[in-house]
Formats: sequence, C-alpha cells, structure tokens
Amino acid sequence: MRQADVAIVGAGLAGSLAATMLGRAGYSVVLVDPFDRARPDFRCEKIERPHADSLRKAGVLDEILPAARRYENIWVARLGRLAEIKPIVEHGIAYGDLVNAIRDLVPSGVTFLRDKVTGIELTGERQTLALAGSESLSARLIIGATGLGAGLLERIGMHRREISKHHSLSIAFDAEAANLPFDSLTYFGEDPAHRISYITLFPLPSGLRVNLFSYHDRADPWLRAFREDPMAAISRALPNLERLTGHLSVRGGVKIRPVDLIATENFARPGIVLVGDAFSTACPVSGTGASKALLDVERLCNIYAPAWLASPGMGTDKITTFYRDPAKRRSDAHSLKSSLLSKRFALGQALLWRALRWGCYAGSVMRNVATHGHLPHRPAEYPVLGEPPMHQSA
Ligand SMILES: Cc1cc2nc3c(=O)[nH]c(=O)nc-3n(C[C@H](O)[C@H](O)[C@H](O)COP(=O)(O)OP(=O)(O)OC[C@H]3O[C@@H](n4cnc5c(N)ncnc54)[C@H](O)[C@@H]3O)c2cc1C
Repeated sequence: MRQADVAIVGAGLAGSLAATMLGRAGYSVVLVDPFDRARPDFRCEKIERPHADSLRKAGVLDEILPAARRYENIWVARLGRLAEIKPIVEHGIAYGDLVNAIRDLVPSGVTFLRDKVTGIELTGERQTLALAGSESLSARLIIGATGLGAGLLERIGMHRREISKHHSLSIAFDAEAANLPFDSLTYFGEDPAHRISYITLFPLPSGLRVNLFSYHDRADPWLRAFREDPMAAISRALPNLERLTGHLSVRGGVKIRPVDLIATENFARPGIVLVGDAFSTACPVSGTGASKALLDVERLCNIYAPAWLASPGMGTDKITTFYRDPAKRRSDAHSLKSSLLSKRFALGQALLWRALRWGCYAGSVMRNVATHGHLPHRPAEYPVLGEPPMHQSA
C-alpha cells in the first residue's frame, strides 16, 4: 500500500492548490483525480481581488497571472445606465486553464495518481483510501476537494444538503463586438420582471467572453427563446445594454448551467478535512465560490495542516479547528449571505428592494465622483450612443 502524509482527493482548483502548497513545504503528498489535465468547464472565469489575495498568500499569484488576460477600465451599469468606472485591475482566464496553470506548479515530489477514490476508512491515526484502479493508499490526512461530486462523501456518512435547489442559472458564450469603450462591463438587470441579476463582458486570452447570471426557471419561455436567438432574448430583457456595447454577436456555442446551493453536513470526522465546493457551494452571482475555495486552501495549508502533522494523531479535535477558523467562517457566511440576498435584490418588487437598487446606483455614482472627480460618462473618443432615460420600474 502506498503511504503518504497527505492524500488529496480531487485536482480541481482547491486540490491542485493544496498539492502545490504542501508539496512545496516538503510533505509527502499524493494527489488523486480521474483526469490528467483539467477539462474545459464553465466555472469562475475571472481573478478578482479576493481570488488574487488568497493566491498571493498561497505564494502562487505571480506564476498564475501570465496565463490570464489583464484588464482594467471596468464599467458598472445599474438601472440601464453607466454608474461607475472602477479603478481596479482584474484578470480573465478560462476555468480549465486556471486549474491547469496551478497543476503545472505542483512539485515533482508530489505523486499524481490518475484514478478515482471509491472508498475511505477513517481513524484518528491513519486513513485508507480505496481507488478504482488496483492500488490503495494510506495517509495521515485526507483533503477532500471533490467539488460537486457527492457520492464519495455520502459513502462516509456525510450528507449533501440542498439549501436552495435550482437557485440560479449561469450562461456563458464567446462574443464579438466592435470598438468597445471598456475592457469589462458589469450590467445589472434593468427590471426585476426579467429575472436577470447581471451580465458581464470581459476579455479572456482567447477573446471577448460573456457571462449572464439569471434566475429563470428551466422551463421559462425566455430560456427557450434564448436558445433560439441569444442576443435577441438578451436585448428584450436588457433593452438599454446595446447603448453601452453596440452590436454584440455570439461566437460559437452557448453553455447553460443550472446552479443549486449545497452544504455538507456531518463533516466533522477524524482524518479528513473538506475544502471548496466539497464543503459548500456558492451562487455564481455572488462571485464567491472560487474565492471561498482558495481561502479554504490557503488557511488550511499555511496554518492548520502543518500544525496537525507536527504532532501524532489526526482526531476530530484537530480537524474542527480548521472549520472554526475566523477568516474561513467569515468567508463562508459572506458567500451564503450574498448568494441568497443577491436573488432577492434582483427579483424584489417591494418598495424596499426598489429603494435598495436606486441606493446602489447612487452609491456607485458617488464612488465614481469621489474617485474620478466627475459623473460617470463615456470617453469622448467613443461615439455617444446616448444615455437611456431613467428606468421607472427598477
Ligand atoms: C457556472 C459557474 C460559474 C461560476 N462563477 C464563479 C465566479 O464568477 N466567481 C467565483 O468565485 N466562483 C464561481 N463559481 C464557483 C467556483 O467555480 C467553484 O466554487 C470552484 O471552482 C470550486 O473548486 P473546487 O476545487 O472545490 O472543485 P472542482 O474544481 O470542481 O474540483 C473537483 C475535482 O475533484 C475531482 N473528483 C471528484 N470526485 C473524485 C473522486 N472520487 N476521486 C478523485 N477525484 C475526484 C474532479 O475530477 C475535479 O477535478 C462558479 C461556478 C459555476 C458552476
């Protein structure tokens, strides 16, 4: 049986980062995943400030960024009109490329097994992992980084609880547009009746990318219309978008992903710690799922795992110190709260929600004035398509 200090199950975003950090720290690590390389998948496609902070603390940010496309000049539109130009820098990168960029940093001392973990036996000392291939594995600590897959965790008595089924819908496609006045645009829904949280345009190394986050039911007629003619459906739901973007056209296929909010229960067990989506998922609208996964791994591998491995035993008392970490708890709470509140913010018809949307618009405009010294406006070198009239129903 192969022996290691740490067995990491899953070489996605969280598992690959954990393997890199613990491998660099000199631990004997085995990383298990059924796929040699991460496959293209629609997930987090931006490195925003919280992602960058955790990647920096994990010591890998500077090695990852060359694979991504840097952009600034980030516009935010609310109530159908430009509200703010943000003085920040972000990076666009396809999810598979991000995971593979981290996988490329995993030190050669880490053993990679192209396999699937099918069973786990837990004790307060050593853990045994059964693999679909012939080999089995023994490790002091298991890091469960299995993402959305529930089967393995259920088999060891954990329970994946649905907090909100069919919570939202995420859509992505490549696009073409001429002479955009921004590098990136986040355009919030104009009218709650259209059930759109926001659409965002940003550059990937391969070109212009569009993510659209909505709360349509899977049987909603808008979704059927969207499948037939995506841009016509978007224009109907966001009639003022084209004033900022000009004509947009779809390039290639469209990916549509329904999203459930899920949290794992009964997770406090000896010998195994869960990170990322294996612990809980976030709504993509909140933009917190990947930052939560990265923060989990950064805290675990910088602080907790080294302390646990420095003394005998791997009982539940050790493992639960990670779940009580204040930064992790704040990140989990923020992620869940913003996942739930964003939906009410986008769909709320009551006066309170209308007032909040106007308040956010006013806040964005005031931030713009404080930052740039003037109201947000299109730069003179771009043709003025005209600001829309204030939207009444927001
Ligand atoms: C449509 C969509 C859009 C999103 N957009 C954003 C965003 O804008 N911002 C943001 O912060 N977050 C976003 N997220 C969330 C974010 O992408 C995820 O939270 C994050 O990718 C989770 O990473 P992970 O490592 O936990 O899981 P994954 O990257 O899914 O990795 C899981 C790995 O485990 C492996 N595995 C599973 N079972 C086994 C097994 N039994 N044995 C061995 N290996 C196994 C799988 O092969 C996989 O490689 C989005 C999510 C979705 C679905």
